[in-house]
Amino acid sequence: MVAARVGVLSLQGDVREHVATLRSIGVVAVAVRTLHDLDAVDGLIIPGGESTTIARLLETSGLRFALGERLRDGMAVLGTCAGLIVLSRSIVDGRADQWSFGTLEVDVRRNGFGRQIASFESVIEVNGIGPVSGVFIRAPKIEAWSSAVTVLATHDDGSGPTPVLVRQGAAWGCSFHPELTDDHRIHELFVASL
Ligand code: GLN
Repeated sequence: MVAARVGVLSLQGDVREHVATLRSIGVVAVAVRTLHDLDAVDGLIIPGGESTTIARLLETSGLRFALGERLRDGMAVLGTCAGLIVLSRSIVDGRADQWSFGTLEVDVRRNGFGRQIASFESVIEVNGIGPVSGVFIRAPKIEAWSSAVTVLATHDDGSGPTPVLVRQGAAWGCSFHPELTDDHRIHELFVASL
């Protein structure tokens, strides 16, 4: 069997950390910047960064519609932090003109975990894995989700538990940054689903 090639959307954000994590678990990781790059991958990670910038660069690079098509066709995708926002159904506190793919039926609030705790680390209990260290950096908060979405982990910031790792078919979304720790089990979980 030919090894799966996993792309990391390399327009903006913490691309290098995702590429390094994928390589350390033995996956062929490919930087995706063009339509040609996109054609060559079996799955894609959309990294954390700035969702408005990523959305703008998806348009200027010509990737927006081709990627939308791949996502509708059921390509495996993992969006972390800003990447989760890009995959969401709707965005609260986004820019007025901010669009998203709607691949994951979740409504997210940008920077939804509040100003004081805009960045924090917390132990997150993930279904099927156990506790992982969740690094949250101005993270989006999932405020609503459809019944098609499987919640794999939640976090309670004091206002009740909300999903922080979700899956809907081949699409995964994570509010925190699994690429910033030495624990690679979330990437392994995603890659195993390819
Ligand atoms: N707050 C950022 C956004 O709206 C996401 C932060 C991150 O990816 N670390 O895009």
